Amino acid sequence: MIRIAVANQKGGVGKTTTAINLATALAATGLSVLLIDLDPQGNASTGLGIARNDREYSSYDLLTNESSLVQCCVPTQIPGLDIIPATVDLSGAEIEMVDLEHRTHRLKAAMDGAPQDRWQVCLIDCPPSLGLLTLNALVATDQVLVPLQCEFFALEGLSQLLQTVERVQQRFNPGLSIIGVVLTMYDRRNRLTDQVSDDVRAVLGRLVFDTVIPRNVRLSEAPSHGMPALIYDHRCVGSEAYIALAREFITRMPRMEEEAA
Ligand code: ADP
Ligand code: MG
Repeated sequence: MIRIAVANQKGGVGKTTTAINLATALAATGLSVLLIDLDPQGNASTGLGIARNDREYSSYDLLTNESSLVQCCVPTQIPGLDIIPATVDLSGAEIEMVDLEHRTHRLKAAMDGAPQDRWQVCLIDCPPSLGLLTLNALVATDQVLVPLQCEFFALEGLSQLLQTVERVQQRFNPGLSIIGVVLTMYDRRNRLTDQVSDDVRAVLGRLVFDTVIPRNVRLSEAPSHGMPALIYDHRCVGSEAYIALAREFITRMPRMEEEAA
């Protein structure tokens, strides 16, 4: 099971939209995929149509009750895609975990304990902070995928995240790396977007995915219908972009290229 955290401490940059639609696009290639919703707001769970009543077990149980991945996961409407939903309990987890043993390694323990052949890839949708929840995700994963909104302060926020990744690497998880930065809400008509995109590529080079995710209203409508854009309207430019991102993602993962159909 390859583990990827979708992280950026800024809110509203497209983490959840990327987690949902990339997970769906990967499942569509025949991979079995698990999405862990690690944001107390539970947007990934809602966006995949998981009703609040169906969240009997959640990522909260994973972190605080030592429940297993298999116990907490529920199937989604997409074949090959399971989710561990989030509930509002999770907002208390950061404080509750402070008193627990191995508080930075709770998610890793749960993931290490799962049957490794049940899912081929696991995406973790992180909350918009660099607190204990995101730290658990960074400790538990192999790689970080960073959605970056093309706006003026994009690079400033990014350096803080890169620093955190480096610290986690040094202290807890030497194998941690960044699979890539994906530019989101790209608006071709906006010259600032182009400028930011050029700057980001100049600084980060090949770390930036070639694929950019355009600003597309279908992507923002889909969650209110409880489905990924790829189901809601698989031909919109947003869906096409996430299919392209999934392809590029797979080529960056040699181990996975063999497994995808
Ligand atoms: P995050 O998880 O980083 O907080 P979201 O994925 O929830 O960000 O996106 C924030 C808001 O922007 C949501 O309302 C979402 O529907 C919308 N959104 C995300 N990506 C796009 C896009 N490419 N085009 C248009 N709207 C988008
Ligand atoms: Mg989110």
